[in-house]
Amino acid sequence: MKLKLRTKLSVSYLLIGLLCILIITVFSNVFLEKSFINYVIKNQAMKNESIVEQLQSQIDSEGMFDLDAIETIGITALEQGIIMRVEAVDGKIIWDAKVHNSGLCEEMIAHMSMSMMQKVPNWQGEVVEADYPLIQNGQKMGRVTIEFYGPYYFTDSDVAFMKTLNRLLFAVSGIAIVMALTVGTLMARRISKPLLIVMETAKNISNGNYDARSKSHSTTVEIDALTASINELAETLENQEKLRQRLTSDVAHELRTPLATLQSHMEAMIDGIWVADASRLMSCHEEIVRMTRLVGDLEKLARAENEAFRGERNPVQLKQLIENQIKNFESDYYKKHILIEFECMAEETIMADKNQLNQVIVNLMSNALKYSPEHSRLIIRLNATPTDVILEFQDFGYGISETDLPFIFERFYRADQSRNRTTGGAGIGLTISKAIIKGHGGDITVSSTPEKGSHFKIVLPKTSVI
Ligand code: ADP
Repeated sequence: MKLKLRTKLSVSYLLIGLLCILIITVFSNVFLEKSFINYVIKNQAMKNESIVEQLQSQIDSEGMFDLDAIETIGITALEQGIIMRVEAVDGKIIWDAKVHNSGLCEEMIAHMSMSMMQKVPNWQGEVVEADYPLIQNGQKMGRVTIEFYGPYYFTDSDVAFMKTLNRLLFAVSGIAIVMALTVGTLMARRISKPLLIVMETAKNISNGNYDARSKSHSTTVEIDALTASINELAETLENQEKLRQRLTSDVAHELRTPLATLQSHMEAMIDGIWVADASRLMSCHEEIVRMTRLVGDLEKLARAENEAFRGERNPVQLKQLIENQIKNFESDYYKKHILIEFECMAEETIMADKNQLNQVIVNLMSNALKYSPEHSRLIIRLNATPTDVILEFQDFGYGISETDLPFIFERFYRADQSRNRTTGGAGIGLTISKAIIKGHGGDITVSSTPEKGSHFKIVLPKTSVI
């Protein structure tokens, strides 16, 4: 059965309230009543002892009883439902409540039994008799027999006390139920309200409104975290949607030029305007090669942008990775007489995707090679701070103009179109590198001065260092 959160919470609060009341009622009825009965029984024993003490004080040293005082004690005891008979040592009866009351004692006991039966159903009580010696100066002067209704008897005030207690419990139970329902409803409203807002946002997102955000604030940590996650999800989806739209238009734009060139060349040859000689076919082939390279680069970019977040994470020795690439590029750099200097100040091993980091190093080294004149230099620095690993590539090449600098990490952006036509870059290498570094939680920045050189700086957080 599916219930609303509000109903569930209210019902559970109510159940807890009822359970508490049940426990309190059981405890009070079982334990409190038991203690109260014990108290009543003890009280009876104390009353008996008090009567004995009072009687003893009314016997003089010769064993003479003060009859008037004893009668007063007997009548007072009778008023409390206690039947007393005092005998001297020789068995002579000094005072007897039954004689004094001429049969009213039985009536009194019957009345007590009746009233106890009314108060306690299935009550089984009877007259209990207790004998006490009367001692004066260490000598037994007589004895007293005390009869009372036992094992215990609730007086009217005892019953009133128990009734008040039960009434109090009843009132507390009522208040507890009302409070459980009120607090349950309030709590449910406080929890369900932000959840409903988050739910609404999620529905909006699933309908394609990626700019939808939940503004609900809650004092519950988990609900706040859920709101933040939904907003993050919306942002990711929004970014991916933008990326997808941009990619489509960018690709269309990039393919249009070579395709148009190919089409016009082909048409001219088909129409017989051009002869399909080797140089014309070579030019067509170049366009095809360019498109193939572009498609390859796009594939790499798509992989970097998607995989960067969940790419492999293995221990990678950065120093070794760089040294390997220096070896791979050795002959190309040698051909242009460009010197590579590697300054290694830190031998860090980081948890990363080795292939992806290799791709970044290759991109930066091939750029430095492409955009530097002969007899130049490339300095590679590997360093570390307490929190980050820093990798720098500083070349002394053509540099990047101030107007191009903010855009060089953008997809398909080429700073110098004329030079790039010869170098053949599609303007994707740095975009791929940035996506990879971002995917590793780091950042890549550049500073450059035209005709002096460029300086690329990669910062990778040490959290990924082992
Ligand atoms: P490409 O494939 O065109 O090299 P990138 O994304 O790697 O694409 O680079 C984008 C642009 O940034 C390049 O076209 C180039 O103009 C500029 N650039 C990149 N690296 C350097 C560098 N080391 N020196 C000068 N310009 C550079």
